[in-house]
Amino acid sequence: MPSRFHAITKDEMDQFLIGLGFVPLKLKGVVELVYGKIVPVGGHRLSLRCYTAVDPGGESREKGTDAIRLQLFHKLQDQIVPCGRPQKCLRVESWRDNIGKAICRITAAENLHVCPACGHPMVLRRNGATGQEFWGCSAFRLTGCKGRWSPRQGQLTPGDLNRAVAGTPTSALRP
Ligand SMILES: [Zn+2]
Repeated sequence: MPSRFHAITKDEMDQFLIGLGFVPLKLKGVVELVYGKIVPVGGHRLSLRCYTAVDPGGESREKGTDAIRLQLFHKLQDQIVPCGRPQKCLRVESWRDNIGKAICRITAAENLHVCPACGHPMVLRRNGATGQEFWGCSAFRLTGCKGRWSPRQGQLTPGDLNRAVAGTPTSALRP
């Protein structure tokens, strides 16, 4: 039997995510409730945001609209840019477990790669035409870096990541 859609209230989401150390964020142009937390990934501090698909009025959006999404960000040239492998969670009865597992996946060091060309974290993107996923440089829109990474190139160690993002200013990063 397929899992059934489960409505989540603002209070439930507040209680769960604030309990995990997240803080509510007010993002310009974003209607749904969003929470953020600074997390260590591969020894570095990144911002993890949870887009909940719960509206500020406290009600879950209709079934079939956006799932709960998790995305990592880092700061680059004073811009907050997405990085890493985004995660989605279905709003089913086990939504708390699902978010917990998604946080484990997204913060696993092996799910964050650094650009072989410029050293910034990479982001998993999808080719709009072919639908194929690829790891591209998170700095692409700012610097035009066309660095790519594929699993064939092997995993980068936390040491590689340390060296690669050493020049990235993260001290002022907020959730
Ligand atoms: Zn790059």
